[in-house]
Amino acid sequence: MGSNIKKPDRKPFYVYLVIVIIAMLLINMLLLPLFTSRQYQEVDYGTFLDMVDEKAISTVEVKNDYIYFESKQGVYYRVVAMDDANLVSELHEAGCRFSQVDTSSSPLETVFFGWILPLLIFYGLGVLISRAMLRRMGGGSGIGGNPMMSFGKSNAKVYVPSTTSIKFSDVAGEEEAKQLLQELVDYLKNPKKYADIGAQCPKGALLVGPPGTGKTLLAKAVAGEANVPFFSIAGSEFVEMFVGMGASKVRDLFEQAEKNAPCIVFIDEIDTIGKKRDGANAIGGNDEREQTLNQLLTEMDGFDGSKGVIILAATNRPEVLDPALLRPGRFDRRIPVELPDLQGRIDILKVHARKVKIADNIDFAAIAKMAAGASGAELANIVNEAALRAVREGRRFVIQQDLQESIEVVIAGYQKKSRVLSTKEKLIVSYHEIGHAMVAAYQSNSAPVQKITIIPRTSGALGYTLQVEEDEKFLLSKEELLNKIATLTGGRCAEELIFNSITTGASNDIEQATKIARAMITQYGMDDQFGMVQLSTQNNIYLGGDTTNACAPETAKTIDDIVVKVVQAQHDKAKKILSEHKDKLHELAKFLYEHETITGEEFMKVLNSPTDPQFQTEN
Ligand code: ADP
Ligand code: MG
Ligand code: ZN
Repeated sequence: MGSNIKKPDRKPFYVYLVIVIIAMLLINMLLLPLFTSRQYQEVDYGTFLDMVDEKAISTVEVKNDYIYFESKQGVYYRVVAMDDANLVSELHEAGCRFSQVDTSSSPLETVFFGWILPLLIFYGLGVLISRAMLRRMGGGSGIGGNPMMSFGKSNAKVYVPSTTSIKFSDVAGEEEAKQLLQELVDYLKNPKKYADIGAQCPKGALLVGPPGTGKTLLAKAVAGEANVPFFSIAGSEFVEMFVGMGASKVRDLFEQAEKNAPCIVFIDEIDTIGKKRDGANAIGGNDEREQTLNQLLTEMDGFDGSKGVIILAATNRPEVLDPALLRPGRFDRRIPVELPDLQGRIDILKVHARKVKIADNIDFAAIAKMAAGASGAELANIVNEAALRAVREGRRFVIQQDLQESIEVVIAGYQKKSRVLSTKEKLIVSYHEIGHAMVAAYQSNSAPVQKITIIPRTSGALGYTLQVEEDEKFLLSKEELLNKIATLTGGRCAEELIFNSITTGASNDIEQATKIARAMITQYGMDDQFGMVQLSTQNNIYLGGDTTNACAPETAKTIDDIVVKVVQAQHDKAKKILSEHKDKLHELAKFLYEHETITGEEFMKVLNSPTDPQFQTEN
């Protein structure tokens, strides 16, 4: 089916090629003899004038921008013509025959210079550019330098699996992601086991995380573990100069994948084609991208899931993706690939240290601590930079000093781009997150804390306190909502208490706290003054649930006042809790600062143990 749709795309291209070749042959037969029959010797204008003066020239012809002349010895010369008003009289004086050749009457030449030559040049350039692009796409990927075969029509490449391929063990940390991907590996290894029982394996999974965290590496590792071919293409490669090429590339890709099943199809930077489709950019909008996306959706729906083709995609901007891509049967699995925590960074450094000659007394933990917030790619770069430094210093292996120095080079370079935390920031974020967690823990109704981390998350928040309810709750009491607000203010409270100054880190907390407080009054009828009256309407509960006021302007003002009062009261409550347990706040913040990520259990253990005397404060 697919193949007879494809041909029209390519045919004109070959026809064009044949025409160009015929044109070249014609030129060779008809025109070139005119130019090549005589060998002209190039001279400069001065020499030409001297020869004229010496009367050494027999004939002169002016043609186009050149003066062709023959010496009395019978040698042919050529010189670039100049704007010389005296030339005619001088030539006359010298007694040579001279004439101007009319070139405008030679249609073949006009056609050649005006039409065929430019075409040839453009064609040549086109070929060169596309070759260079192909080479660039091929570079930088490939499993362990395996032989790579480029499959004619599309740029998707198949990597022949070999024993040197990338395995999960090459990806340090990211245990959560690996665990989620393990199921896919198992499926690829024996699709039959799943087919027999009638289980549908997910068709696609989306790797989501900041740049350099190992998304591409993980996708390759899935292929390596399952020992299946790995087709990869970047989203940007679909969007081509020629309309319709993107869509046909998608078709090719899936056709090849189905032939080679079981296999992995990996679409990197899927956000470049998978952006939300909207009417807004219809003016000069990217029809091509939209067509490509539609084709991708069609192919994903169309192919037979039981054949063992798994589509992985990676993005660092999941929020811009078209919701259609995330529907069941498409990329319905989302695999977070987060920045590594301290242990993760140590492991990544060790993985990369295996590739260089390194002293055996290296303190990786010290290096990892200095690089809080660095991504896997940055850590890999640090090791490489250290190796380069070792070479510069004339050493045969890397020492601690090299790593320490290179960390500064690499991190300083990245500091503005990525979210590497300074020591001070790390400390503030530690107190902030512990503030949230403690307020939650001391309020009987709040859910226990599951995991606290100061590593920046994909969501953009610096730290993140995961609060997973014991049972998923659909009904929340007024009490619970108020406690939630208190918990949200806890982060800022801790900053106030310890640093006596506040930071911008709480903006998301403030937004959420305000939302809850407002909803309590306008949606849930939880305010005594208004009672059970709906004061706002929800626009679309599926799209973030924005609300609009449905009340008189004066009422809106009263609501604002109550919201302020509610949040203020909870803020005070949180502050009271934290100042009563300041010693625990110090102890836990230090604990988090050192570990970067702690579990809820660890948190509760420290919280419930007698306070370490070093943290005991006056109150
Ligand atoms: P992404 O696709 O998420 O931007 P990549 O997978 O391209 O990141 O990672 C770039 C490089 O960084 C990898 O080739 C690898 O050398 C290194 N790297 C990133 N994360 C890890 C990790 N978890 N373990 C080991 N190396 C990593
Ligand atoms: Mg990548
Ligand atoms: Zn917060």
